Amino acid sequence: MHVSTPSGILGDMGTSGLVDYHLHTPRCGHAVGDLEEYVARALQLKLSEVGFSDHFPLLHLRDPSLSMALEELPDYVSEVNRLAETVSGVRVRVGIEVDYLPGYEEKTAEILSAHAFDYIMGAVHFLDGWGFDDPRYVDCYRGRDLYGLWARYFQVLGEAAGSGLFDVLAHPDLIKKFGFRPREDVTHLYVSFLDRVAAAGLALEVSTAGLSKPVGEMYPGEDFLRLCREREIPVTLGSDAHSPREVGRDYRAAVAMLRRVGYREIALFERRRRNSLPLPF
Ligand code: ZN
Ligand code: FE
Ligand code: FE
Ligand code: ZN
Repeated sequence: MHVSTPSGILGDMGTSGLVDYHLHTPRCGHAVGDLEEYVARALQLKLSEVGFSDHFPLLHLRDPSLSMALEELPDYVSEVNRLAETVSGVRVRVGIEVDYLPGYEEKTAEILSAHAFDYIMGAVHFLDGWGFDDPRYVDCYRGRDLYGLWARYFQVLGEAAGSGLFDVLAHPDLIKKFGFRPREDVTHLYVSFLDRVAAAGLALEVSTAGLSKPVGEMYPGEDFLRLCREREIPVTLGSDAHSPREVGRDYRAAVAMLRRVGYREIALFERRRRNSLPLPF
């Protein structure tokens, strides 16, 4: 593949040898760019591995602007697999970002079991039917008991951790996206959630996406990440790219934060087995 950027500039990007485990595709209805363009950007950034983790079909509502339809899932999996076989210079993993919806665990497990994923990423974007990270419904934060909302969020995310469905949980403090934070100290919400994550033995994602959202910080924030580190919880790294130019975004800052709190490696997955990659810088 032809890469036109001079190597001196590439060296300054701070992405060489890293991985991006959170790439979307146009199938979800709110991402742009061919899969090949995401991969081309990964090659340009000298990433060693990428994982597509597009939105799993939502089981509680049909909204073509939020996820692929159920009938599309086999095509998604075979498309990413085909790419993984043909691309050289970067490993391509087959992942999926699955909404944890209480009550839908069995149905979710049944659908997932038909496919050979490298990793399954759990996420909570809905609380009791409300798509709390959707800009269309941001007004629902107004007048809410924010502490109660955060407690509910971490309770549901903790259930996701204990569900046995997932290898990693995406953007663990997504509830802060629009900057609505409780006045109260939330440390013990993090701690009781992380106890469940540690007990279940799964990994968490460090996502750079939050830096470009109203909250303006990584998911998870540094204090939260420090608590993860204390419990030796493995972490993956992702940009939540919904367009090719977002691949590997803000990775220099992510690695700096990981190093500050004491991480020396990140988690990788192959056929749902976890490995680790030493941070390259
Ligand atoms: Zn999305
Ligand atoms: Fe998400
Ligand atoms: Fe995502
Ligand atoms: Zn996401």
